[in-house]
Amino acid sequence: VNRSHILPCVASQKRWESLERLGLSRAQSLRMHGSSSSEEGLKRVSSAPQLGDQDKGSLLKRKLSVSDIESYVVDSGSSKYKKQGWFLNYYFKSVPKDLLDANDLECSLCMRLFYEPVTTPCGHTFCKNCLERCLDHTPQCPLCKESLREYLACRKYIVTNVLDVLIKQLFSQEYEDRTKTHLEENRELSDLTKNVPIFVCTMAYPTVPCPLHVFEPRYRLMIRRCMDTGTRQFGMCISDAQKGFADYGCMLIVRSVHFLPDGRSVVDTIGGKRFRVLSRAMKDGYNTADIEHLEDTRVEDREELEKLQELHDAVYEQAQVWFQNLKIRFHNQILQHFGPMPEREPDIQATPNGPACCWWLLAVLPIDPRYQLSVLSMTSLKDRLVKIQHILTYLQSIPNN
Ligand SMILES: [Zn+2]
Ligand SMILES: [Zn+2]
Repeated sequence: VNRSHILPCVASQKRWESLERLGLSRAQSLRMHGSSSSEEGLKRVSSAPQLGDQDKGSLLKRKLSVSDIESYVVDSGSSKYKKQGWFLNYYFKSVPKDLLDANDLECSLCMRLFYEPVTTPCGHTFCKNCLERCLDHTPQCPLCKESLREYLACRKYIVTNVLDVLIKQLFSQEYEDRTKTHLEENRELSDLTKNVPIFVCTMAYPTVPCPLHVFEPRYRLMIRRCMDTGTRQFGMCISDAQKGFADYGCMLIVRSVHFLPDGRSVVDTIGGKRFRVLSRAMKDGYNTADIEHLEDTRVEDREELEKLQELHDAVYEQAQVWFQNLKIRFHNQILQHFGPMPEREPDIQATPNGPACCWWLLAVLPIDPRYQLSVLSMTSLKDRLVKIQHILTYLQSIPNN
């Protein structure tokens, strides 16, 4: 069974709804008779339609009425949530566990125990992550198809406290298992060398900003996972006709995400480490890769290092001249998109990526992405500087470049 797949199971949600109704009538009867006999409860429910005998047994435990709880907390003011938590804990403890079945608390999307259950305005409950994945595709309730456009725009997926406490209290073992699975999945999603999510879109470079407009459902999911797991990183590669995406890329670090009301987002990122792709795979519709990071080979020889410094200084000056002489329109566009040319760095080998000015130049120079890619993959600062020098010399040789 592919548990990651989002297929709404209407039958199971129906069952949940019928439980809800039964629970309510049971609670009402308790109030009326002041009795808590589970015998009586079972009898009252045994008239439930369309359920097998086994189901009827597990069924009944629906002891608990939401309206009871609400009436208790209604006046408790600012400490409402705290009190509610205490009250629910207390209340659920008195419920005999054998009367409730963990299957009653199953998400109809992933078919697992609710994890961070959220309830839509139309009254349907799902795991927070499961619902968000549905909303990536269409702003509708996956069960009743009611519009969730406003719900999506608010982005307030508040956990349904009653269910959350009930699960933790009455199914602590199942909840622990479910949490373990969740953390395990998060750990897998947090690995920064294995199955790293890959955004196939554009060239990215270390230290260079890369703003993205995220609208495809698969990338919405990818960005959300980067934020939820806390890595705030993913790989960026250009596409490749044969392989799907290129052999080399650059990690992007998310600086901020601005969500639009319809679920699209504007993601501000900046380039991190470069990498080489070792193997490719897919995860929930987006590409992933096992990668190894690329680092410049350090130059230790003093004489060699002096020559490298000279080359760097010459290229830096040449680049300054090129940028200053650029037509004002292009000059301003570059400033707007990539910021000013980075300062000259005191130690050109301070980081495994070398000086930032190389990456800025590579990003702004009008050259073919294939060529940019070949320079990105180099682990020799000297080779990189020579390539950039060639490009600058070529551009300066064209009148009115
Ligand atoms: Zn779920
Ligand atoms: Zn619904």
